[in-house]
Amino acid sequence: MGIDLVDIPGAVLRQDNLPRPQWSTIKAWINGNATRREWDKAWRDVAWQWLELIQDEWSHDYLIRKSAEFLMLSVEDDEGAQHRLEVCERSRRKVLESLPGVAQDGSIGCHVVIACATQDHYYDYISYYYSEGTFATSGGVFLNDDYGHFVLAPTEGQHDLTIAHEMTHNLLRDRALPLWIEEGLAQLMEEAVCDMNYGWPDKEMIVRMRDGWPAIGASALWAGTGFQNPDGDTQELTYATALCLMRRILTDYRRRWLKFVRDAQRTDAGEQSAKKHLKTSLGDILGGLLGSGKWAPGIYP
Ligand SMILES: [Zn+2]
Repeated sequence: MGIDLVDIPGAVLRQDNLPRPQWSTIKAWINGNATRREWDKAWRDVAWQWLELIQDEWSHDYLIRKSAEFLMLSVEDDEGAQHRLEVCERSRRKVLESLPGVAQDGSIGCHVVIACATQDHYYDYISYYYSEGTFATSGGVFLNDDYGHFVLAPTEGQHDLTIAHEMTHNLLRDRALPLWIEEGLAQLMEEAVCDMNYGWPDKEMIVRMRDGWPAIGASALWAGTGFQNPDGDTQELTYATALCLMRRILTDYRRRWLKFVRDAQRTDAGEQSAKKHLKTSLGDILGGLLGSGKWAPGIYP
């Protein structure tokens, strides 16, 4: 069974300066025209053609390369592309191995990485997915679309970390974990994939946390709103605190942390799971870092 995107009516529409695949249309076509055994191949063909459309649009300096589980569009040389695909494969393996029963790769076909060569390409591409003005500058994003995929910004040096981080979000996307757990794990996966260690917060950071959290309020951490808040210190403190708490839990509860993560629910920030598996409250764990205060999570419907 061959598939050709341009022959499927409405499969690709031009929106926000680029050809945008309409996944529900494509999915319906594949489900109706290919047998289940052909799905993997059909989706790989679709992904390849999708990247060709972007290549036609942007420039043929962009090349499409593939590894076992990934397809990547980028302008880099063979050596650079090889390295990046290896980081992608390693990140996927590490996350799945480290979080059994939590992370899963339910995708059919291959993962797609679009490494933008210019800021214009990057913002043109991702603007379709964000309402105006809401995206922050970063090394890249995982776009949790019907066909979830990675888009990397043209920044120097940080891509290995970005790939490891965003891969964690990708493989946890079906779990709806509390965001602080997901962001804590994503940072720990950066360490595991890139063979480095952020360590515990230093004295200065602990002072900032102790000064900052009483004013911000712990619900910004437990409900996850602090990760999106670019005001002042909030975002940085939220990421740093999430990492510190997950490291604390991994260190102090070596045999139980995975059960805690598996059962954690977003609606109570994982509090019931902490009580069940860690025999303690998340408020007490946070209090161990910040000193006494009102740190217990609430309910976040
Ligand atoms: Zn993240």
